[in-house]
Amino acid sequence: MDIKSAEFVISNSDVAKCPQRPIPEYAFIGRSNVGKSSLINMLTNRKSLAKTSGRPGKTQLINHFVINNNWYLVDLPGYGYAKVSKSSKKKFQKFITNYFEQRKQLAMAYVLVDVRHEPQPIDLEFMTYLGINEIPFGIIFTKADKLKPKAIERQVAHYCEVLLKTWEELPPYFITSSSKKIGQDEVLNFIDATNEE
Ligand code: GDP
Repeated sequence: MDIKSAEFVISNSDVAKCPQRPIPEYAFIGRSNVGKSSLINMLTNRKSLAKTSGRPGKTQLINHFVINNNWYLVDLPGYGYAKVSKSSKKKFQKFITNYFEQRKQLAMAYVLVDVRHEPQPIDLEFMTYLGINEIPFGIIFTKADKLKPKAIERQVAHYCEVLLKTWEELPPYFITSSSKKIGQDEVLNFIDATNEE
């Protein structure tokens, strides 16, 4: 898929106020600092479509972008940031679950995980939540430039092994690096194929 246009539409914290066009939507989510904003910028060939932030956990909104005038890319807030209060964590959980449980246009969620890290309970629990709610998801491994190819292979194989303890099948997964522009075609072509289904 070529990116012909990528435009910001709206940010909000209420799923009812998300844009209403009946076009497919792909949501990107992951722990704060996983590289989500950088990935969105890399996928869309834009320098700062999504705001990379030095302060993790700051962008607590659902951000809609329209790509090629025919699908939405959604930048969801990063989760798992330790320095927010319990009450704001609860509020956060509520609006994210509202989003996932109510958003009709949602075709697929992409859960981002840092390829260097051990599988984290918060990510695995989130995938289980998606599974329970029958929301298709894929995994995007980020920051692949930080490891040598053999180490990436090892990390990904280990992640798959852990997933297969609870899942019968592996979700689609992608190995990416925003700084080295790795994985752009794979992710965009997968979205293209899903749009055509
Ligand atoms: P977000 O909080 O998930 O949106 O993460 P950001 O995109 O703001 O990135 C967090 C940090 O990781 C920043 O310092 C980025 O420069 C760095 N980063 C993001 N993607 C990559 C990548 O592919 N490779 C490397 N080496 N660093 C990255």
